[in-house]
Amino acid sequence: MTPSPPTQLALPHVATLHAYTPGLQPAEPGWVKLNTNECPYPPSPRVAAALRAEIGADGAALRLYPNPQSGPLRAAVAKLHGLGEANVCIGNGSDDILNLLIRVFCAGDAAAGFMVPSYSLYPVLVGIQAGRSAPIAFDRSMRLPVGKIAASTARIFFLTSPNAPTGIGFPNAEIERVLADYRGLLVVDEAYAPFAGENAVPLLARYPNLVIVRTLSKAYSLAGIRVGYALAQPEAIGLLDRVRDSYNVNRLSQAAALAALGDPAYYDAMLAKVKATRDASLAEFAEKRGWFTYPSQANFIFTEPKNTRGETGPAVAQSAYDFLCRRKVLVRHFPSHALTAPFLRISVGTDREMQVLNDTLDAWLKTPHA
Ligand code: PMP
Repeated sequence: MTPSPPTQLALPHVATLHAYTPGLQPAEPGWVKLNTNECPYPPSPRVAAALRAEIGADGAALRLYPNPQSGPLRAAVAKLHGLGEANVCIGNGSDDILNLLIRVFCAGDAAAGFMVPSYSLYPVLVGIQAGRSAPIAFDRSMRLPVGKIAASTARIFFLTSPNAPTGIGFPNAEIERVLADYRGLLVVDEAYAPFAGENAVPLLARYPNLVIVRTLSKAYSLAGIRVGYALAQPEAIGLLDRVRDSYNVNRLSQAAALAALGDPAYYDAMLAKVKATRDASLAEFAEKRGWFTYPSQANFIFTEPKNTRGETGPAVAQSAYDFLCRRKVLVRHFPSHALTAPFLRISVGTDREMQVLNDTLDAWLKTPHA
């Protein structure tokens, strides 16, 4: 008997699954990389020192499993937000936390809701779990349809704030209007909240059905370390702990994250710098170039390229993207959705990188095919 091929043995929902498409991570040097919302500055120097200390002279500590609860890191995160350790769960990146949330609350008819466009990982995680997606569409205003979310019958709803790829942050007043009527678990994905003026952490004490998800990938410049966390009341945290891998965060990542959280002065200065560059870029695109650009509260901007004939649209955005790419400036284009296809998402780099981007766009505008 010949065995069935793995593709036939796989569960049908996996066989038909479309995997998440991450932004390009070019291996060769020389790119101005503004495509995956990483921070352009290195992490606190304490991070490298902590990693060296953890490895030691001979790496002997690496024989041992890491702290299964990421205990010291939980305590540090709790302190940062003025919460208790029972309000925190640490993940292998915030993607891990999002996955745990889906594992607990979504399968079969238990649907997961999210806004479109927002973070495109949510529907993939739902698909892995053979769950049902209950998307709600933005219109071009990108205003939050509070009533529609509040009326959703999904068991769990992911609200990205500030949203990706637009950068628009939703005020707590709107989030509270959702929480007042929505019957499921509301997850506010605050990957970009450190760059925003407001965040939903003060709401946690009053809403047992609120979970906030954070990451150290952006505002702590640690995307390569993979640490994120959930904040919620203890009941919800307990459910996440029940389904997570027992050693979900490795030793080096725990040490690096702890060191980063221990250096707030470094990160306050870094955040101020990124926000200043973002605001200068917003002015550059919206006012100087006259390109429609959403008012970002994140570390990226979402702008609608306009050519010299005053035209916008998916083909114009693609032309700008391709030109930038040929000049080794990497941004992100999402051509598969009508609301995103005319735009480019540009991560905030250093002032020098933003200058290269702007000069390259000026060169694009001078080409006949722009
Ligand atoms: N949420 C949002 C909205 C994001 O844009 C990202 C990064 N792409 C993540 C979560 C995941 O971040 P990480 O897994 O690096 O913590």
